[in-house]
Amino acid sequence: MFKKTIFHKIISGEIKSSIIYQDKYVTAIKDINPQAPIHILIIPNEYIPNSNYINKNNRQLFGYMFYIATKIAKKVHIDQDGYRIILNCNKNAGQEIYYLHIHLLGGKNLGPLLK
Ligand code: AMP
Repeated sequence: MFKKTIFHKIISGEIKSSIIYQDKYVTAIKDINPQAPIHILIIPNEYIPNSNYINKNNRQLFGYMFYIATKIAKKVHIDQDGYRIILNCNKNAGQEIYYLHIHLLGGKNLGPLLK
């Protein structure tokens, strides 16, 4: 149903990217088109197209992605000033890449969420 995405290739090492963190479960990379001074994507190593595919077998992974996002926020020193985590699902949210990921944004005042 879903085609292989750029994130498949980054996680497998087929394409070089700025991986800033990787473990058995998740990979974190710098966004290629940053919307803030810090813009990092946290991606599960296991393929999940988007949050519509979270289920009782993989739900722990979802929590782990958020856990790693908060660890990275501390590591890059945006935890005190604050940050935003975004997840886009399907077309109304503008999901571009059909491989589950969360955006960690910070390093400036991000303004209101809805404009
Ligand atoms: P989304 O709209 O939530 O699907 O976001 C996809 C994000 O992936 C966008 O912010 C893109 O800038 C980012 N992106 C696309 N290709 C790459 C890449 N090769 N390396 C890092 N980030 C990418």
